[in-house]
Amino acid sequence: MEKSAPSFRSKKLINEARTTLAGGAGCRSRCFFESSEEIVIDYGKGSRLYDADGREYMDFCISCGVNILGHANHNVVLAAKKTAERGTGFSLLSRAEIEMAGFLTRHVPSMERVRFVNSGTEATLSAIRLAKKATERRKIVSFEGCYHGFHGMVPVEPRKESLDPAGLNIVLPYNNAAAFREAVESNHREIACVIIEPVAAHMGIIPGDKDFLTAIREITRRYGILLIFDETMTAFRGFAGGFQSNGIVPDITCMGGVIGGGFSLGVYGGRADIMRSLSPEGSFYQSPTIVSQTVLRAGLMALRLMNDAFYKAVNKKAEYLVSSLNDVFIDHNLSVRVFNYYSMMSLVFSTARPSNYEESEAVKNPLLYQELGQYLLGRGIIIPQAEKEPFFISGKHSRKDLDIMIGEVKTFFLGKKDLS
Ligand code: PMP
Repeated sequence: MEKSAPSFRSKKLINEARTTLAGGAGCRSRCFFESSEEIVIDYGKGSRLYDADGREYMDFCISCGVNILGHANHNVVLAAKKTAERGTGFSLLSRAEIEMAGFLTRHVPSMERVRFVNSGTEATLSAIRLAKKATERRKIVSFEGCYHGFHGMVPVEPRKESLDPAGLNIVLPYNNAAAFREAVESNHREIACVIIEPVAAHMGIIPGDKDFLTAIREITRRYGILLIFDETMTAFRGFAGGFQSNGIVPDITCMGGVIGGGFSLGVYGGRADIMRSLSPEGSFYQSPTIVSQTVLRAGLMALRLMNDAFYKAVNKKAEYLVSSLNDVFIDHNLSVRVFNYYSMMSLVFSTARPSNYEESEAVKNPLLYQELGQYLLGRGIIIPQAEKEPFFISGKHSRKDLDIMIGEVKTFFLGKKDLS
């Protein structure tokens, strides 16, 4: 899959982007690695992206994991088209909302009542505000290295201040129950909520230990602190439901990501007594002007397509990719491993899985990661630009695609024997 020479159209578009888009970048970032040529995406289909010059790429980002069905799934696109023809959004209670709410409340244990919003960021922002209102407390506990969107109620980047002033944030190390217990016991009267990714997805893939999450659940319950799971990355990733289906059930859950079927959609929901604070039932006002019908219907179609057989197939392919890559690293004595949560994966420059932000920082190797990204891009393969962001596969990635990826990663690392 060698890429052809850079051409005129992308270059022209990139120059235009520099004069019209902030930072010359799209909503998240640009697609390039240091010193590689930047590309502009024109369209996507299945596991592939195509740039403005018609070059094809195998996509291991799938819109930050959103397009688990692959780009432009026929049935999802059809659902969106048909819905749009009957009105895109009404700012009034709609059938689509009720059907989607029914689907989510049936599949996600904590979600007795839900409210739709337009993104994961809006979901966590709303959930935190709701928790403050429902408890009439002001402090928020979050964990270093977890990401909850860019609203700034909790720090957006590790070791940086939140945008919510007045020292209301308590940021604790991930997977450290003792630190949690100590911090919460000395502040519990002031703490409204604890927000956590039950599997942290933005410092590599780091699952919360069972003991850690169980301790959080017990301590928050004891002190009337609301526990919020941010399942934007984990919900409907490996099966129909959330991480909480394993038995540790939060008070409020936030989701975004795959539930929009490739569009941006967010939802938060939880115990009926807490959600009762929301207007029009309660006095807590939160109301996006529009949650799109098109998006709700596309999301519902996607969730219905993601049946047991779908998950079984995509998870099996993910296991194949993870174990094959790790076999390459082990066989060649390389200090590199891939860790995963179902089809969400991350590459770590270490043989051991980090368990918190500090450990993930200690093993990072940005230069080498950039080199890898650049090499793969040159071979027509796209991985995330940031080392700690996960890469993903969709149901549309074939065994052959994975074998190409495995082969290219192997070729790259065999030229780096000093990693052993
Ligand atoms: N929470 C988590 C765990 C996320 O991974 C993300 C982004 N994927 C968000 C919140 C923010 O979601 P969005 O980009 O839809 O605002």
